[in-house]
Amino acid sequence: MSVGKPSGYRSALLLLEREDDDIVRYLDESLRLIQGMVGYTIHRSSRMNQRISMVKVKKKINRNEAVCICTRCSKDYTVKYIHDANKSPVGDLCLTCKRAIADMAVTKDNVRAHLNYDELTGSLSYRHTTISGKAGESATKEHGAGYLKTRLGGKDYLVHRIAFMYMEGRFPDQVDHIDHNRSNNVWSNLRDVNNKVNSKNHSKSEANTTGITGVAVHKPTGKYRAYIGKDYKQIHLGLFETLAEAKEARDEANKVYTYHSNHGV
Ligand SMILES: [Zn+2]
Repeated sequence: MSVGKPSGYRSALLLLEREDDDIVRYLDESLRLIQGMVGYTIHRSSRMNQRISMVKVKKKINRNEAVCICTRCSKDYTVKYIHDANKSPVGDLCLTCKRAIADMAVTKDNVRAHLNYDELTGSLSYRHTTISGKAGESATKEHGAGYLKTRLGGKDYLVHRIAFMYMEGRFPDQVDHIDHNRSNNVWSNLRDVNNKVNSKNHSKSEANTTGITGVAVHKPTGKYRAYIGKDYKQIHLGLFETLAEAKEARDEANKVYTYHSNHGV
């Protein structure tokens, strides 16, 4: 493929109609060439769906300014390249659209307008094609520690929190994934709990020596010691000859202190 003599934005934009690694590499090279010739920076913005896009220039006004087409609302907007380009990405949206997205309040209506939450599968997807992604595509990313996140109004939110906003129009205090799978955001798997209650459903401690939550080997006697936590304190339930007896004592205490049935599983 020969570059020829690029006549400015248009020739580069025509090439962008195609998606191909070679083309992208070729474009990066030719953009540098063009920039050298025209003396200002041409931006292309990377998107979540990895497509390469660039500011859509409708008409150059002069050396410094150009009329561009907003890729969201299709309206024209003017960009002062030399002034803007070296400091911040020009992007491919008009100012109104940029602000609308950046300032979007996270309310039940806005979340529902932008995203689709499937309470039976826990999936979160885009309702419409926007700069964030295509309609129907998953709107989640890995957050770390097993959680999923999504981006809304220029900020990241944990998906299970957005699920509460979507379903109940509020952010929860603290969310417990009942099956301990932090990426399982099926609605029936989410519980809004405060800190104290949530600690009752933690996964089994690795320091546990017997394999049963609330039962430890009592070193001085070699017996099994049953215990339970309440209000951040440990309550001693007694020493037992067998593991089964200690477990029974703990199970009984679970009922008394209303621990969640999946605790320590
Ligand atoms: Zn716009």
